Amino acid sequence: MIVYKFGGASVKDAGGIRNLAQIVTDEKEHLVVVVSAFGKTTNALEKVLKTWMAGDESYKDLLDNIYYYHLSVSNELFPSGDSVRNKIDVSFSKLKEYLKTSKRVDFDYEYDQIVSYGEIWSTIIVAAFLKHSGLNSEWTDIRENLITDDRFRDADILWNQTTARIKSVFNFRGRDIYVTQGFIGSTIAGQTTTLGREGSDYTAALLANILDAERVVVWKDVPGLLNADPRWLSDASRLEEVSYREAVEMTFSGAKVIHPKTIKPLHNKRIPLFVKSFLVPGDAGTVIKSETAIKHGLPVFVKKENQMMISILPKDFSFAMGENLSRIFYLFIRHGIKVNLVEASAISIDVCIDDERARIESLIDDLSAEFTAAYNDNVEMLSIRHYTPEAIERITTGREILLEQRTRNSVRFVVR
Ligand code: ADP
Ligand code: ASP
Ligand code: MG
Repeated sequence: MIVYKFGGASVKDAGGIRNLAQIVTDEKEHLVVVVSAFGKTTNALEKVLKTWMAGDESYKDLLDNIYYYHLSVSNELFPSGDSVRNKIDVSFSKLKEYLKTSKRVDFDYEYDQIVSYGEIWSTIIVAAFLKHSGLNSEWTDIRENLITDDRFRDADILWNQTTARIKSVFNFRGRDIYVTQGFIGSTIAGQTTTLGREGSDYTAALLANILDAERVVVWKDVPGLLNADPRWLSDASRLEEVSYREAVEMTFSGAKVIHPKTIKPLHNKRIPLFVKSFLVPGDAGTVIKSETAIKHGLPVFVKKENQMMISILPKDFSFAMGENLSRIFYLFIRHGIKVNLVEASAISIDVCIDDERARIESLIDDLSAEFTAAYNDNVEMLSIRHYTPEAIERITTGREILLEQRTRNSVRFVVR
Protein backbone atom coordinates (compact mmCIF):
# COMPACT_ATOMS: atom_id res chain seq x y z
CA MET A 1 0.00 0.00 0.00
CA ILE A 2 0.95 3.63 -0.48
CA VAL A 3 0.27 6.76 1.56
CA TYR A 4 -0.62 9.96 -0.29
CA LYS A 5 -0.73 13.29 1.50
CA PHE A 6 -2.47 16.35 0.09
CA GLY A 7 -1.74 19.67 1.83
CA GLY A 8 -3.85 22.80 2.02
CA ALA A 9 -2.62 24.27 -1.28
CA SER A 10 -3.70 21.18 -3.24
CA VAL A 11 -7.26 21.28 -1.88
CA LYS A 12 -7.98 24.98 -1.81
CA ASP A 13 -10.93 24.86 -4.23
CA ALA A 14 -13.18 22.52 -6.21
CA GLY A 15 -10.66 22.34 -9.07
CA GLY A 16 -8.01 21.14 -6.60
CA ILE A 17 -10.27 18.36 -5.37
CA ARG A 18 -11.06 17.26 -8.93
CA ASN A 19 -7.31 17.18 -9.57
CA LEU A 20 -6.79 15.13 -6.39
CA ALA A 21 -9.43 12.65 -7.56
CA GLN A 22 -7.64 12.30 -10.90
CA ILE A 23 -4.27 11.65 -9.21
CA VAL A 24 -5.87 9.07 -6.91
CA THR A 25 -7.68 7.40 -9.83
CA ASP A 26 -4.39 7.02 -11.68
CA GLU A 27 -2.88 5.07 -8.76
CA LYS A 28 -3.75 1.38 -8.94
CA GLU A 29 -2.34 0.31 -5.56
CA HIS A 30 -4.22 0.44 -2.24
CA LEU A 31 -4.09 3.94 -0.81
CA VAL A 32 -4.42 5.82 2.44
CA VAL A 33 -5.08 9.44 1.51
CA VAL A 34 -4.17 11.93 4.25
CA VAL A 35 -5.71 15.37 3.75
CA SER A 36 -5.07 18.76 5.40
CA ALA A 37 -7.57 21.55 5.90
CA PHE A 38 -8.59 23.46 2.74
CA GLY A 39 -6.31 26.34 1.72
CA LYS A 40 -5.72 28.70 4.64
CA THR A 41 -8.52 27.30 6.82
CA THR A 42 -6.17 26.54 9.74
CA ASN A 43 -5.08 30.21 9.86
CA ALA A 44 -8.72 31.28 9.68
CA LEU A 45 -9.67 28.93 12.54
CA GLU A 46 -6.79 30.29 14.62
CA LYS A 47 -8.37 33.74 14.20
CA VAL A 48 -11.75 32.39 15.29
CA LEU A 49 -10.10 30.88 18.36
CA LYS A 50 -8.26 34.06 19.35
CA THR A 51 -11.34 36.23 18.85
CA TRP A 52 -13.47 33.81 20.84
CA MET A 53 -10.89 33.51 23.63
CA ALA A 54 -10.93 37.31 23.91
CA GLY A 55 -14.70 37.19 24.42
CA ASP A 56 -15.30 39.03 21.14
CA GLU A 57 -18.57 37.93 19.52
CA SER A 58 -17.31 38.73 16.03
CA TYR A 59 -15.82 35.24 16.02
CA LYS A 60 -19.24 34.21 14.68
CA ASP A 61 -18.75 36.20 11.46
CA LEU A 62 -15.29 34.72 11.00
CA LEU A 63 -16.71 31.23 11.42
CA ASP A 64 -19.55 32.00 8.99
CA ASN A 65 -16.96 32.94 6.34
CA ILE A 66 -15.28 29.56 6.80
CA TYR A 67 -18.67 27.86 6.56
CA TYR A 68 -19.55 29.62 3.28
CA TYR A 69 -16.13 28.76 1.85
CA HIS A 70 -16.71 25.04 2.48
CA LEU A 71 -20.28 25.29 1.28
CA SER A 72 -19.26 26.87 -2.00
CA VAL A 73 -16.64 24.16 -2.66
CA SER A 74 -19.18 21.49 -1.82
CA ASN A 75 -21.92 23.07 -3.97
CA GLU A 76 -19.58 23.20 -6.92
CA LEU A 77 -18.62 19.54 -6.57
CA PHE A 78 -22.08 18.20 -5.73
CA PRO A 79 -24.75 20.33 -7.40
CA SER A 80 -27.42 18.17 -5.78
CA GLY A 81 -25.36 16.93 -2.84
CA ASP A 82 -27.68 17.06 0.13
CA SER A 83 -25.89 14.38 2.14
CA VAL A 84 -22.51 16.15 2.03
CA ARG A 85 -24.09 19.47 2.86
CA ASN A 86 -25.92 17.84 5.72
CA LYS A 87 -22.70 16.40 7.17
CA ILE A 88 -20.96 19.78 6.91
CA ASP A 89 -23.94 21.51 8.54
CA VAL A 90 -24.02 19.03 11.41
CA SER A 91 -20.29 19.44 12.02
CA PHE A 92 -20.42 23.26 11.99
CA SER A 93 -23.40 23.17 14.39
CA LYS A 94 -21.41 20.98 16.75
CA LEU A 95 -18.55 23.47 16.75
CA LYS A 96 -20.93 26.42 17.25
CA GLU A 97 -22.52 24.66 20.19
CA TYR A 98 -19.06 24.05 21.67
CA LEU A 99 -18.16 27.72 21.29
CA LYS A 100 -21.38 28.74 23.03
CA THR A 101 -20.95 26.47 26.02
CA SER A 102 -17.24 25.87 26.62
CA LYS A 103 -15.47 27.59 29.51
CA ARG A 104 -12.43 28.89 27.55
CA VAL A 105 -9.92 27.53 30.04
CA ASP A 106 -6.61 26.59 28.54
CA PHE A 107 -5.50 28.11 25.23
CA ASP A 108 -3.63 25.05 23.95
CA TYR A 109 -6.49 22.72 24.84
CA GLU A 110 -9.11 24.95 23.19
CA TYR A 111 -6.86 25.34 20.16
CA ASP A 112 -6.99 21.62 19.50
CA GLN A 113 -10.74 21.28 20.09
CA ILE A 114 -11.49 24.10 17.62
CA VAL A 115 -8.74 24.27 14.99
CA SER A 116 -8.93 20.50 14.34
CA TYR A 117 -12.29 20.98 12.60
CA GLY A 118 -10.56 22.14 9.41
CA GLU A 119 -9.36 18.62 8.70
CA ILE A 120 -12.75 17.10 9.52
CA TRP A 121 -14.53 19.33 6.97
CA SER A 122 -11.93 18.86 4.24
CA THR A 123 -11.97 15.07 4.54
CA ILE A 124 -15.78 14.88 4.55
CA ILE A 125 -15.84 16.67 1.19
CA VAL A 126 -12.84 14.88 -0.35
CA ALA A 127 -14.05 11.42 0.71
CA ALA A 128 -17.52 12.10 -0.68
CA PHE A 129 -16.06 13.31 -3.95
CA LEU A 130 -13.91 10.18 -4.37
CA LYS A 131 -16.98 8.03 -3.80
CA HIS A 132 -18.94 10.18 -6.22
CA SER A 133 -16.12 9.60 -8.76
CA GLY A 134 -16.76 5.86 -8.53
CA LEU A 135 -13.80 4.96 -6.29
CA ASN A 136 -14.12 2.34 -3.56
CA SER A 137 -13.20 4.69 -0.72
CA GLU A 138 -14.13 5.34 2.89
CA TRP A 139 -13.89 8.29 5.30
CA THR A 140 -12.06 7.40 8.51
CA ASP A 141 -11.86 9.46 11.69
CA ILE A 142 -8.18 9.28 12.61
CA ARG A 143 -8.94 10.47 16.15
CA GLU A 144 -10.30 7.06 17.05
CA ASN A 145 -7.03 5.42 16.02
CA LEU A 146 -4.10 7.82 16.30
CA ILE A 147 -3.63 8.12 20.05
CA THR A 148 -1.35 10.81 21.44
CA ASP A 149 -0.11 12.23 24.71
CA ASP A 150 -1.91 15.30 26.06
CA ARG A 151 0.64 17.96 25.13
CA PHE A 152 -2.03 19.98 23.32
CA ARG A 153 -0.89 21.79 20.15
CA ASP A 154 2.27 19.67 20.00
CA ALA A 155 1.04 16.18 20.75
CA ASP A 156 3.08 13.11 20.01
CA ILE A 157 1.98 9.61 19.17
CA LEU A 158 1.65 6.85 21.76
CA TRP A 159 2.90 3.96 19.67
CA ASN A 160 1.60 1.13 21.82
CA GLN A 161 -1.95 2.45 21.88
CA THR A 162 -1.94 3.40 18.20
CA THR A 163 -0.29 0.58 16.26
CA ALA A 164 -2.90 -2.16 16.67
CA ARG A 165 -5.80 0.23 16.03
CA ILE A 166 -4.31 1.61 12.83
CA LYS A 167 -3.51 -1.87 11.55
CA SER A 168 -7.01 -3.13 12.18
CA VAL A 169 -8.82 -0.09 10.75
CA PHE A 170 -6.79 0.40 7.56
CA ASN A 171 -6.99 -3.27 6.60
CA PHE A 172 -8.15 -2.89 2.96
CA ARG A 173 -10.72 -5.63 3.39
CA GLY A 174 -13.31 -4.73 0.78
CA ARG A 175 -11.80 -1.23 0.41
CA ASP A 176 -9.22 0.27 -1.95
CA ILE A 177 -8.88 3.74 -0.48
CA TYR A 178 -9.19 5.35 2.94
CA VAL A 179 -9.47 9.11 3.32
CA THR A 180 -8.35 10.44 6.67
CA GLN A 181 -7.20 13.60 8.44
CA GLY A 182 -3.66 14.81 8.86
CA PHE A 183 -2.55 16.95 11.81
CA ILE A 184 -5.03 15.65 14.41
CA GLY A 185 -5.26 12.81 16.89
CA SER A 186 -6.78 12.15 20.27
CA THR A 187 -5.75 11.35 23.83
CA ILE A 188 -6.63 8.00 25.28
CA ALA A 189 -9.49 9.80 27.06
CA GLY A 190 -10.89 10.95 23.71
CA GLN A 191 -9.87 14.62 23.75
CA THR A 192 -8.83 15.90 20.34
CA THR A 193 -5.16 16.88 19.98
CA THR A 194 -3.07 18.41 17.17
CA LEU A 195 0.49 17.54 16.19
CA GLY A 196 1.82 21.06 15.53
CA ARG A 197 1.37 23.34 12.51
CA GLU A 198 2.05 21.61 9.19
CA GLY A 199 1.71 18.28 11.01
CA SER A 200 -0.12 16.40 8.24
CA ASP A 201 3.16 15.27 6.70
CA TYR A 202 3.98 13.71 10.06
CA THR A 203 0.63 11.88 10.12
CA ALA A 204 1.37 10.44 6.69
CA ALA A 205 4.76 9.19 7.90
CA LEU A 206 3.30 7.63 11.06
CA LEU A 207 0.66 5.75 9.09
CA ALA A 208 3.25 4.60 6.56
CA ASN A 209 5.48 3.30 9.33
CA ILE A 210 2.69 1.35 11.04
CA LEU A 211 1.23 -0.03 7.82
CA ASP A 212 4.64 -0.80 6.27
CA ALA A 213 3.86 1.31 3.23
CA GLU A 214 5.82 0.87 0.05
CA ARG A 215 6.21 4.63 -0.22
CA VAL A 216 4.76 7.99 0.79
CA VAL A 217 3.98 10.74 -1.69
CA VAL A 218 3.40 14.31 -0.48
CA TRP A 219 1.75 16.39 -3.21
CA LYS A 220 2.95 19.99 -3.20
CA ASP A 221 2.76 23.20 -5.24
CA VAL A 222 6.49 22.91 -6.07
CA PRO A 223 8.24 20.44 -8.45
CA GLY A 224 9.90 18.67 -5.49
CA LEU A 225 12.43 19.50 -2.83
CA LEU A 226 14.45 22.43 -4.16
CA ASN A 227 17.81 23.75 -3.05
CA ALA A 228 16.00 26.77 -1.54
CA ASP A 229 12.47 28.01 -1.01
CA PRO A 230 11.57 29.42 -4.46
CA ARG A 231 9.67 32.23 -2.73
CA TRP A 232 13.05 33.35 -1.37
CA LEU A 233 15.53 32.46 -4.14
CA SER A 234 13.56 32.33 -7.37
CA ASP A 235 16.24 30.38 -9.28
CA ALA A 236 16.08 27.39 -6.89
CA SER A 237 16.51 24.00 -8.60
CA ARG A 238 14.97 20.61 -7.93
CA LEU A 239 17.01 18.00 -6.07
CA GLU A 240 16.43 14.60 -7.66
CA GLU A 241 17.48 12.43 -4.73
CA VAL A 242 18.11 13.40 -1.13
CA SER A 243 19.18 11.18 1.76
CA TYR A 244 17.11 10.99 4.95
CA ARG A 245 20.01 12.67 6.74
CA GLU A 246 20.08 15.63 4.35
CA ALA A 247 16.31 15.98 4.54
CA VAL A 248 16.35 16.05 8.34
CA GLU A 249 19.06 18.71 8.30
CA MET A 250 17.07 20.82 5.83
CA THR A 251 13.75 20.60 7.64
CA PHE A 252 15.29 21.11 11.09
CA SER A 253 17.07 24.22 9.80
CA GLY A 254 13.66 25.55 8.79
CA ALA A 255 12.87 24.38 5.24
CA LYS A 256 9.12 24.72 5.46
CA VAL A 257 8.29 22.17 2.81
CA ILE A 258 8.06 19.09 5.05
CA HIS A 259 7.38 18.90 8.77
CA PRO A 260 10.70 18.08 10.53
CA LYS A 261 9.21 15.11 12.40
CA THR A 262 8.26 13.39 9.12
CA ILE A 263 11.58 11.79 8.32
CA LYS A 264 12.25 9.65 11.40
CA PRO A 265 9.30 7.22 11.10
CA LEU A 266 10.14 6.73 7.42
CA HIS A 267 13.86 6.33 7.98
CA ASN A 268 13.22 3.75 10.71
CA LYS A 269 11.51 1.48 8.17
CA ARG A 270 13.46 2.65 5.13
CA ILE A 271 10.28 3.85 3.41
CA PRO A 272 11.02 6.30 0.57
CA LEU A 273 9.31 9.70 0.60
CA PHE A 274 8.44 11.33 -2.72
CA VAL A 275 7.81 15.06 -2.94
CA LYS A 276 5.84 15.68 -6.11
CA SER A 277 3.93 18.46 -7.82
CA PHE A 278 0.16 18.15 -7.83
CA LEU A 279 0.22 20.49 -10.83
CA VAL A 280 2.39 18.15 -12.92
CA PRO A 281 1.81 14.73 -11.32
CA GLY A 282 3.66 12.87 -14.08
CA ASP A 283 6.98 14.58 -13.26
CA ALA A 284 9.56 12.76 -11.17
CA GLY A 285 9.75 15.13 -8.18
CA THR A 286 12.25 14.34 -5.43
CA VAL A 287 12.83 11.06 -3.66
CA ILE A 288 14.11 11.04 -0.10
CA LYS A 289 15.58 7.66 0.80
CA SER A 290 18.47 5.78 2.39
CA GLU A 291 21.93 7.18 2.08
CA THR A 292 22.47 8.23 -1.48
CA ALA A 293 25.66 9.82 -2.63
CA ILE A 294 25.09 13.53 -3.16
CA LYS A 295 24.72 13.97 -6.86
CA HIS A 296 23.41 17.46 -7.16
CA GLY A 297 26.54 19.32 -6.04
CA LEU A 298 24.39 22.34 -5.18
CA PRO A 299 24.50 24.40 -2.03
CA VAL A 300 21.21 24.04 -0.13
CA PHE A 301 19.92 27.28 1.38
CA VAL A 302 17.47 27.49 4.27
CA LYS A 303 16.05 30.54 5.98
CA LYS A 304 14.28 30.48 9.34
CA GLU A 305 12.53 33.74 10.12
CA ASN A 306 11.11 35.22 13.29
CA GLN A 307 13.97 34.08 15.51
CA MET A 308 15.33 35.33 18.79
CA MET A 309 18.90 34.98 20.06
CA ILE A 310 19.38 34.75 23.83
CA SER A 311 22.77 35.12 25.49
CA ILE A 312 22.91 33.51 28.91
CA LEU A 313 25.67 34.22 31.43
CA PRO A 314 26.07 32.63 34.90
CA LYS A 315 26.00 35.46 37.46
CA ASP A 316 28.80 33.92 39.54
CA PHE A 317 31.13 33.66 36.53
CA SER A 318 31.18 29.85 36.66
CA PHE A 319 31.81 27.93 33.46
CA ALA A 320 28.91 27.67 31.06
CA MET A 321 29.54 24.08 30.04
CA GLY A 322 28.85 21.12 32.31
CA GLU A 323 26.28 21.49 35.04
CA ASN A 324 25.06 24.93 33.96
CA LEU A 325 24.44 23.64 30.47
CA SER A 326 22.25 20.81 31.65
CA ARG A 327 20.30 23.10 34.02
CA ILE A 328 19.68 25.65 31.27
CA PHE A 329 18.50 23.07 28.75
CA TYR A 330 16.27 21.43 31.28
CA LEU A 331 14.49 24.80 31.57
CA PHE A 332 14.17 25.15 27.80
CA ILE A 333 12.47 21.77 27.65
CA ARG A 334 10.21 22.51 30.59
CA HIS A 335 9.00 25.71 28.93
CA GLY A 336 8.40 23.88 25.64
CA ILE A 337 10.96 25.98 23.75
CA LYS A 338 12.73 24.30 20.85
CA VAL A 339 16.37 25.21 20.39
CA ASN A 340 17.53 25.81 16.82
CA LEU A 341 21.19 26.59 17.42
CA VAL A 342 23.59 26.60 20.40
CA GLU A 343 26.99 28.21 20.71
CA ALA A 344 28.93 28.10 23.97
CA SER A 345 32.03 29.94 25.15
CA ALA A 346 33.75 29.66 28.54
CA ILE A 347 31.09 31.50 30.49
CA SER A 348 28.28 32.25 28.09
CA ILE A 349 25.79 30.36 25.99
CA ASP A 350 24.06 31.78 22.90
CA VAL A 351 20.87 30.12 21.80
CA CYS A 352 18.70 30.77 18.75
CA ILE A 353 15.01 29.94 19.19
CA ASP A 354 11.62 30.63 17.62
CA ASP A 355 10.20 33.89 18.91
CA GLU A 356 7.40 32.71 21.18
CA ARG A 357 7.26 35.66 23.53
CA ALA A 358 5.09 34.35 26.36
CA ARG A 359 7.12 31.18 26.79
CA ILE A 360 10.44 33.02 26.55
CA GLU A 361 9.47 35.60 29.15
CA SER A 362 8.62 32.93 31.68
CA LEU A 363 11.87 31.10 30.85
CA ILE A 364 13.92 34.26 31.42
CA ASP A 365 12.08 34.70 34.68
CA ASP A 366 13.12 31.22 35.80
CA LEU A 367 16.71 31.78 34.72
CA SER A 368 17.05 35.13 36.46
CA ALA A 369 18.07 33.85 39.90
CA GLU A 370 21.34 32.40 38.63
CA PHE A 371 21.91 33.86 35.17
CA THR A 372 21.70 37.11 33.31
CA ALA A 373 19.94 36.75 30.00
CA ALA A 374 20.00 39.31 27.21
CA TYR A 375 18.25 38.88 23.90
CA ASN A 376 18.10 40.13 20.31
CA ASP A 377 14.75 39.76 18.65
CA ASN A 378 13.75 40.07 15.00
CA VAL A 379 16.66 38.01 13.76
CA GLU A 380 16.86 35.25 11.13
CA MET A 381 18.82 32.03 10.99
CA LEU A 382 20.36 31.34 7.57
CA SER A 383 21.85 27.92 6.86
CA ILE A 384 23.77 26.55 3.90
CA ARG A 385 24.64 22.90 3.46
CA HIS A 386 27.49 22.20 1.04
CA TYR A 387 28.45 25.84 1.16
CA THR A 388 30.80 27.69 -1.14
CA PRO A 389 32.24 31.21 -0.73
CA GLU A 390 29.83 32.44 -3.44
CA ALA A 391 26.85 30.86 -1.69
CA ILE A 392 27.79 32.56 1.59
CA GLU A 393 28.25 35.90 -0.11
CA ARG A 394 24.94 35.57 -1.88
CA ILE A 395 22.85 35.43 1.27
CA THR A 396 24.90 37.41 3.80
CA THR A 397 25.76 40.51 1.80
CA GLY A 398 24.29 43.56 3.48
CA ARG A 399 23.31 41.65 6.63
CA GLU A 400 24.69 42.16 10.12
CA ILE A 401 26.06 38.79 11.31
CA LEU A 402 25.46 38.25 15.03
CA LEU A 403 26.74 34.69 15.12
CA GLU A 404 28.40 32.28 12.72
CA GLN A 405 28.81 28.55 13.14
CA ARG A 406 30.69 26.37 10.65
CA THR A 407 31.29 22.66 10.22
CA ARG A 408 32.75 20.82 7.25
CA ASN A 409 29.33 20.46 5.62
CA SER A 410 27.28 23.36 6.82
CA VAL A 411 27.39 26.94 7.91
CA ARG A 412 24.81 28.85 9.93
CA PHE A 413 24.40 32.54 10.48
CA VAL A 414 22.19 34.44 12.85
CA VAL A 415 21.63 37.75 11.09
CA ARG A 416 19.74 40.97 11.34
P1 ADP B 1 1.35 21.91 1.96
O1 ADP B 1 0.36 22.31 0.92
O2 ADP B 1 1.60 20.45 1.99
O3 ADP B 1 1.04 22.48 3.30
P2 ADP B 1 3.58 23.66 2.12
O4 ADP B 1 3.00 24.97 1.73
O5 ADP B 1 3.77 23.40 3.57
O6 ADP B 1 2.70 22.51 1.49
O7 ADP B 1 4.96 23.41 1.37
C1 ADP B 1 5.18 23.87 0.07
C2 ADP B 1 5.92 25.18 0.11
O8 ADP B 1 7.16 24.98 0.74
C3 ADP B 1 6.30 25.73 -1.25
O9 ADP B 1 5.27 26.52 -1.78
C4 ADP B 1 7.58 26.52 -0.98
O10 ADP B 1 7.38 27.91 -0.95
C5 ADP B 1 8.00 26.07 0.42
N1 ADP B 1 9.41 25.64 0.51
C6 ADP B 1 10.28 26.01 1.48
N2 ADP B 1 11.48 25.48 1.30
C7 ADP B 1 11.39 24.71 0.19
C8 ADP B 1 12.33 23.86 -0.49
N3 ADP B 1 13.58 23.70 -0.07
N4 ADP B 1 11.89 23.20 -1.60
C9 ADP B 1 10.63 23.32 -2.03
N5 ADP B 1 9.70 24.12 -1.42
C10 ADP B 1 10.07 24.80 -0.33
N1 ASP C 1 -3.82 22.23 8.46
C1 ASP C 1 -2.65 22.20 9.31
C2 ASP C 1 -1.82 23.46 9.10
O1 ASP C 1 -2.15 24.26 8.23
C3 ASP C 1 -1.81 20.98 9.15
C4 ASP C 1 -1.15 20.82 7.80
O2 ASP C 1 -1.57 21.46 6.84
O3 ASP C 1 -0.20 20.04 7.70
O4 ASP C 1 -0.88 23.67 9.79
MG1 MG D 1 1.70 22.93 4.89
